[in-house]
Amino acid sequence: MMKLIDLHTHTTASDGTESPSELVQHAAKIGLVALAVTDHDTTSGLNAATETGHQVGIEVIRGCELGVSTPYGEMHLLALWLPEECAELEKTLAEVRQLRIERNKKMLDRLNKLDMPLNYEDVLRFAGGETVGRPHIASAMLEKGYVKSTKEAFSRFLGRGGLAYVPRTLPTPEEGVTLLAKTGAMVCMAHPGLLACPQEWLLDTIPQLKKCGLQAIEAWHSDHSSADVEFCLHLAETFDLGLSGGSDYHGRAKPSVQLAFGKNNLHLTENILDALKLRKKALA
Ligand code: AMP
Ligand code: ZN
Ligand code: FE
Ligand code: FE
Repeated sequence: MMKLIDLHTHTTASDGTESPSELVQHAAKIGLVALAVTDHDTTSGLNAATETGHQVGIEVIRGCELGVSTPYGEMHLLALWLPEECAELEKTLAEVRQLRIERNKKMLDRLNKLDMPLNYEDVLRFAGGETVGRPHIASAMLEKGYVKSTKEAFSRFLGRGGLAYVPRTLPTPEEGVTLLAKTGAMVCMAHPGLLACPQEWLLDTIPQLKKCGLQAIEAWHSDHSSADVEFCLHLAETFDLGLSGGSDYHGRAKPSVQLAFGKNNLHLTENILDALKLRKKALA
């Protein structure tokens, strides 16, 4: 059997439930040979993950996931192979996290008006690291008994269009791709199938993003249907982009997803990583 990998995962540095070190140990234990750690808006877990990777003998790829704003809502970008030093990116990520705090507090104001009072401290108790977001608010709501499940917290209150939803202030896709590409990392469009946009919009936008440094798209993802995968393969072929694959593992926060495996018979194998490495080498 082909060796397993995973190029999209989250830890307690953002909204996953395993620490960076625990996640890498977990991956090694179940036989993965490589793992990209891609927390939202932070690189703070990467040193611990890399160190554990050395100890347990698994390749750790330094990454992160950045949201950008489109007319159809948030699009996500993944950086793979971030360098250890990326001062300009760190500065922007710090600003992005500050905007998250302001946004989170606005959502708490809305919940307060809906008779579901929460202090910011109630939320922070569920956050293990620098990046605080809606999953932590959902956990606090669950603890207070305001909702019966995380799913309900999102569908009624925190999800896009929900009663307490406040959108994030985010960079444009061009700004995001440029920022990540400048670090020297491989920039990959994450889960295009989750963006509720017409296919024509992606067909129009991707050439512009490629000019800014976009190099790959995440075709294999636990929330992609087979039609989503097919469309991503078509995009990659049309625009000469690499193909990535990740489970988007969040630990207990997303129990339907396992490392290297997901819905729709998703299983992520070393050939995906090998092809990306060849592309990276060719572009270097
Ligand atoms: P935020 O970054 O604060 O906007 O929160 C987005 C995160 O919330 C995503 O990365 C997911 O981990 C999680 N999330 C989004 N929608 C849902 C949902 N319907 N149910 C559970 N978790 C969700
Ligand atoms: Zn997440
Ligand atoms: Fe994402
Ligand atoms: Fe993710």
